[in-house]
Amino acid sequence: MTTTEGPAAQTVAPDPEFAAQAVAKADLYERAAADRLGFWAEQAREHVTWDTGFTDVLDWSNAPFAKWFVGGTLNVAVNCVDRHVAAGNGERVALHFEGEPGDTVSLTYAQLQEQVCRAANALSALGVGPGDRVAIYLPMLVESVVAMLACARLGAPHSVVFGGFSADALHSRIVDAEAKVVITCDGSYRRGKPTALKPAVDAALAKGAPSVTNVLVVRRNGEDVAWTQGRDVWWHEALEAAPPEHEAQSFDAEQPLFILYTSGTTGKPKGILHTSGGYLVQAAYTTRNVFDLRPERDVYWCTADIGWVTGHSYVVYGPLANGATQVIYEGTPDTPDKDRWWSVVEKHGVTILYTAPTAIRTCMKWGEEFPARHDLSSLRVLGSVGENINPEAWNWYRRVIGGGRTPVVDTWWQTETGAQMIAPLPGVTALKAGSAQVPLPGIAAEVVDDAGEPLGHGQAGYLVLTEPWPSMLRGIWGDEQRFKDTYWARFPGRYFAGDGAKRDEDGDIWLLGRVDDVMNVSGHRLSTAEIESALVSHPDVAEAAVVGATDETTGQAVVAFVILRGGHAEGPDTVADLRAHVGKEIGPIAKPRSIMVVAELPKTRSGKIMRRLLRDVAEHRPTGDVTTLTDSTVMDSIRSGMGASAGD
Ligand code: ATP
Ligand code: MG
Repeated sequence: MTTTEGPAAQTVAPDPEFAAQAVAKADLYERAAADRLGFWAEQAREHVTWDTGFTDVLDWSNAPFAKWFVGGTLNVAVNCVDRHVAAGNGERVALHFEGEPGDTVSLTYAQLQEQVCRAANALSALGVGPGDRVAIYLPMLVESVVAMLACARLGAPHSVVFGGFSADALHSRIVDAEAKVVITCDGSYRRGKPTALKPAVDAALAKGAPSVTNVLVVRRNGEDVAWTQGRDVWWHEALEAAPPEHEAQSFDAEQPLFILYTSGTTGKPKGILHTSGGYLVQAAYTTRNVFDLRPERDVYWCTADIGWVTGHSYVVYGPLANGATQVIYEGTPDTPDKDRWWSVVEKHGVTILYTAPTAIRTCMKWGEEFPARHDLSSLRVLGSVGENINPEAWNWYRRVIGGGRTPVVDTWWQTETGAQMIAPLPGVTALKAGSAQVPLPGIAAEVVDDAGEPLGHGQAGYLVLTEPWPSMLRGIWGDEQRFKDTYWARFPGRYFAGDGAKRDEDGDIWLLGRVDDVMNVSGHRLSTAEIESALVSHPDVAEAAVVGATDETTGQAVVAFVILRGGHAEGPDTVADLRAHVGKEIGPIAKPRSIMVVAELPKTRSGKIMRRLLRDVAEHRPTGDVTTLTDSTVMDSIRSGMGASAGD
């Protein structure tokens, strides 16, 4: 496997002033290494209030089905809301909501508590009890957070379905989870226009979903909605009628908390099951340490939608368990203009920002003038998640958004891991652009070869997690066998993440893309992520996607798709320049066989590049499952361009 050296290997040492006050201390690593389970017990006591203390940290006797914090009982919603009110922080703002049209509301922890209690009462009145599933199909609204917490309070697992999904996608998720109630809204605002959500619920239920007895409808934009008497209930009416107090029940640490379907980058989405105690412990511990969160003074903003796991762990459960103040935003980053996010940062004095590489690269494409319109000096920690962040994008993020001051933490994790797993600790770790770096204290990861043997530094292989962790998935909903086959069969006893990785000379971990995306060119294993980073390091390129296509001579050949930066048009030499650039950055073997300049790349609704579809195009196959794609017309335009492209 080739390695990109040079600028990528430079480190940024922690700022001494930041380090002196940092939440995370270097001794976390030593404590966790000396006694891993003891360390997790400590974290569990520090971050969670238990109604009954646990007697055992981990029961792994029925592996891969784990039980964490055995015997412990808790209520997740009480941990996220009530205990902060009880501790005297009821007047602290929990949520600053920014609607896309400009309407705002700030909700204190005391107000959030009342909303959650009313919603829990309203759901109970509809017959929802412990173990019943509730589907939530909502955009980013205060009610979305309230709905999730109300379910948690009742011990009723929620299944949040991203509000941009179609009626078909919603239908299959409602049916798979056998949801009893669906919570939705009339509509929302996207790019200045009202959009409707309820019609998709009506269409999904019309396809047959016998488990659903009621639909709770939040009123957001006043759109007219069709109404099914006896089934549909207005959220505001149900909450007004419900008592403002609710006595929370204590649940076992292993009470199911939610089901969430993966984003479908590699194939059919999997319904990932998470439970209560271990999940909350790791979500809270990572939020506090990886973001250096000081709940009493930080203003935290994670831009993820609640439809993804990042919205679960780092909008709802992690920040609220810590009693943090945060921003949630309903709309798109370019409404009314491309500086919307930065105006929100300035307005609320956001100190911690967590977003995805796709957003950072989009902002790079738009240009520096948009962030430059605003005072971003309140920011002190930046985070990234979801895909590889190319060193170029990392440097841009730190320089343009972070003013060259802030740590940037790249965090590797998955829906399945429930919480962050590999990430630097700000104030402790010397940062390296483009690398997720080190397993967090308490986490054990290795890079292994085909036979499962650990690889030396510089060698690329498979990322595995060698020890169970508290927020690990407890299964795939309704499919024990798929759970065992997908994650535990490839390397028995270890969790197979499905991602390629390598450690560099310092032992830092670099993610190399999905295992299916790693290419084999004339016997050389090349990483899609590395070639993409090389392309993005060219001043003309904003985004790149690389796939391996079958090639008669070389086995596989590198095929690249690139989006040029704003202002750059494709010239007669663009493709030759880019090929030469990759040759110089990585080596001649990595030069793409063909490079196609495109206007858009196919992305999942969560913003990830869907390389499997590009591979279909590059290998002249019909395009596979596109149900989780943002815009399916993107594939048509790439396909027609591909036919005409030179060099292939
Ligand atoms: P599916 O499993 O259905 O194909 P998905 O893997 O995209 O979908 P998620 O659980 O949302 O669904 O994403 C987890 C994956 O995202 C990881 O396995 C990894 O490939 C990628 N990822 C997340 N964070 C990072 C990161 N910091 N660096 C590199 N890759 C990352
Ligand atoms: Mg995955």
